[in-house]
Amino acid sequence: MSTAADQPAPAVQLPDGIVTFEVPTPFGVGPVNVYVVEGPLTLVDTGPATALALETLERELGARGHRVEDLERIVLTHHHVDHFGLAGQLVRRSGAEVHAFGGIAGWLGDYAARATAEMRFIEKRLIRHGLPPEVALGARAADTLVRGYAESVAVDHELAEGGVLRFDDREWQVHHRPGHSTSDTVFHDRAARTLVAGDHLLAQVSSNAVLSEPLGTDEAGADPTERLTPLRDYAASLDLTHAMDVDLVLAGHGPPVTDHRELIERRVASREKRLDRIVGEVAAGHATAFDVGRVIWGRTAFVQVHLVMSEVIGHLELLEGAGRIVGEEQDGVLRFRVA
Ligand SMILES: [Zn+2]
Repeated sequence: MSTAADQPAPAVQLPDGIVTFEVPTPFGVGPVNVYVVEGPLTLVDTGPATALALETLERELGARGHRVEDLERIVLTHHHVDHFGLAGQLVRRSGAEVHAFGGIAGWLGDYAARATAEMRFIEKRLIRHGLPPEVALGARAADTLVRGYAESVAVDHELAEGGVLRFDDREWQVHHRPGHSTSDTVFHDRAARTLVAGDHLLAQVSSNAVLSEPLGTDEAGADPTERLTPLRDYAASLDLTHAMDVDLVLAGHGPPVTDHRELIERRVASREKRLDRIVGEVAAGHATAFDVGRVIWGRTAFVQVHLVMSEVIGHLELLEGAGRIVGEEQDGVLRFRVA
C-alpha cells in the first residue's frame, strides 16, 4: 500500500509573513521545523541545545535579515527538548519573551530538577508495568542523555485554551491539544486557514503519546495508578482537529499536512488495528506492558524502552478504559487479562 511517506513532499506555499527552516537534532526523528513570523519577530520552537542547532538558527535567521538578538518572542508548541532546548540561550541573548502552555511553565522553569524527578517517577511506573530493573537502567542512561539537550527557561506568558496570540497583521487562536505530550499547543490562524501544530499531527510519522508525569504533578509525585500516557487525550484532541476547517497544518517535523482529515482518519484506523493486535497478545498470555512490547517489537523493546513502553501502555490504558481488558496488581506488577 502506498503511504504519504513514499511520495516526494510537494512544495507547499506558506502564508505570507511566515518562513520555516529545519534545525538539526541528534535524535532519530531528524531535524525539527522552526517558524519565524514578523511583527513582533517571533520564533516558534527553537531546536535542541546543541552548538549545531544554534549555528543553524544564526545562519538561517541571518539569511532572512535577522539576528538571534532581534528575537522578540519565542512560542513553544510543547515541552520536548527538540522543541524548547535552546530557548534559555536565545532568551539570554535576545531578551525575547517566552510563551508556552501554562500547565508546563513550572516544569520548564525548573527543568533540571523537574526532569530528573519525572525520570524517577516514570522509571518506578515502568517497573510496575513489568520492565525488568536491568532494562530500566539502560533506559535511565538513554533518558539522561536526551534530557541533557535542554535547560530551564522562564515562561513569561502562560498560554491557555481559548487564548489569542496577536501579531501586527494576524491573530492566532490558542488551543491545548494534549496527546503527543501533555502540553501540546496548536495555533489557529483563521484568516490564513492554517494551523501551527508542533508534533500534534505529522505527515510522515504517527505522533506517539510519550510517557510523562501527569500535568500538575509536583515533587511529591502522584498516585501510582494514574495514567502514564496521554493517548486517551490524544484521541479527543485529534477529533477536535479533524473538525477544524484549515487548508494547511504546519508541523514540527517534515512537510506540512495538506489534508488533515484524511491523515487523521488514517491515524485513527491504524490505532484501532494496533488496539486489536494488543488485545490479541494479552489474550495469548502476554500479561504485562513489557511482555506485550517485547513480543511485538522484539529487541527494540530493550533499546527504545520509552518509545515502546509509551506505545504499549497508552494502548493498554485505552483498552482498559473501554472495558476490553482488566489490570490487576500482583507482587507489585500490573498484569492484564481480557475482560
Ligand atoms: Zn518533536
